[in-house]
Amino acid sequence: MKVFKFGGASLESVDRIRQVAQIVQSFPDEKLLIVISAMGKTTNELEKIAQNYFLRKREIAARLLYNVEQQHLSIAEILLGGRDHPLFTQLQQFFTEAEWTLGEKPMRTYDYYYDQLVGLGELLSTAIVSAYFNTAGLKNTWLDVRDVFRTDDNFRDANIDWAYTQKQVTEKVVPLFNNTNIVIAQGFIGSTDQNESVTLGREGSDYSAAVFANMLDAESQTIWKDVEGLKNADPKLFPNTVNIPEISYGEVIEMAYYGAQVIHPKTIKPLQNKQIPLLVKCFLDKNLPGTIIQEEADAKQLPPIIVLKKNQVLLKITSKDYSFITEDKISDIYEIFHKLKVKINLMQNGAISFSCCIDNNPEKIELLIKTLHEQFKIAYNEGLELLTVRYYHDGLLEELSNGHNILLEQRSPITIQRLLQK
Ligand code: ASP
Ligand code: MG
Repeated sequence: MKVFKFGGASLESVDRIRQVAQIVQSFPDEKLLIVISAMGKTTNELEKIAQNYFLRKREIAARLLYNVEQQHLSIAEILLGGRDHPLFTQLQQFFTEAEWTLGEKPMRTYDYYYDQLVGLGELLSTAIVSAYFNTAGLKNTWLDVRDVFRTDDNFRDANIDWAYTQKQVTEKVVPLFNNTNIVIAQGFIGSTDQNESVTLGREGSDYSAAVFANMLDAESQTIWKDVEGLKNADPKLFPNTVNIPEISYGEVIEMAYYGAQVIHPKTIKPLQNKQIPLLVKCFLDKNLPGTIIQEEADAKQLPPIIVLKKNQVLLKITSKDYSFITEDKISDIYEIFHKLKVKINLMQNGAISFSCCIDNNPEKIELLIKTLHEQFKIAYNEGLELLTVRYYHDGLLEELSNGHNILLEQRSPITIQRLLQK
């Protein structure tokens, strides 16, 4: 059994979906659990719908939903050669449910409604791909992963109930392979014990695939991307990137932790725990070698790895009365960050101040500052970039920081981080 994951870019057009089918066709006798995320930028569109709904801008939300609907219907129509197929009834049901949600008065949290609306992208994409595969001779079973992935109600970042989900996978998913070699499931979503939809965090489909790989004891997981494999930096931001043929789980965890948008950070653990290799391959040319991620890999072979996180904010938290910022104060500060679910990307403390770098999320920052303000003076600086380089050398650092002020720096023999201001 292998687990495949296809992301939004591999499904953004009719041609690409056909390409995905060709890839799957080239594994004719393999049992495949295929995890699929939403097509193209659908999730971003759905986020806008959730935002407008919550702001009571229902007409805008409805119009945006209509656009999503038309895009999906027209892709489905081309792939299936018309609208005379049960798929269209299934799609209509999904849209009707979303319309019902939009008709409700928001009584619960934004995160709850977000999850009821945003998971729609995966339901649509999997239904379309599954129906198309079946007509193209790739017999498969469509699975509603919400019947299998049980989570808590931490909406937008739900945590999998491992034991319950394993039981569901064994009892409900394994038998599906008696009927078809291919099972298609949504990434990114799950459900609470109250049957409320949840999401697992943006880009969470990699993680969904890893959960399946772990629970099905898969021989490998492959993430099919529109790039050659894992690179030492984001090619959209840096010239002359190189492909990394082989890398360890540990190194990828570090990259993801520092903000490399290569693979969802939670993906590695379920694979590492069962020593399942993770392959990153290019769906545009499956003969390219790609990247293999596994327990052991020779770190000496690695090029410098560069991660740039944009849109960062530096918060300087200073005691009002010149008292020292020691363990007790730091623990107060941390508790506030933890409660408001704000992740600290880099931190440093001095005698009477604590500085940290966080993502620029205006609503959260406003709340954070309001809460911290009771005890501390706050200064903040926005529009910054956090540069992380592993296996750095001085020439490269100079080149990357050139023309910037360095507001904060932290360095170990392997990793350097700099908060940069233009
Ligand atoms: N569709 C979701 C997102 O764009 C999940 C994923 O792509 O992995 O965040
Ligand atoms: Mg995506």
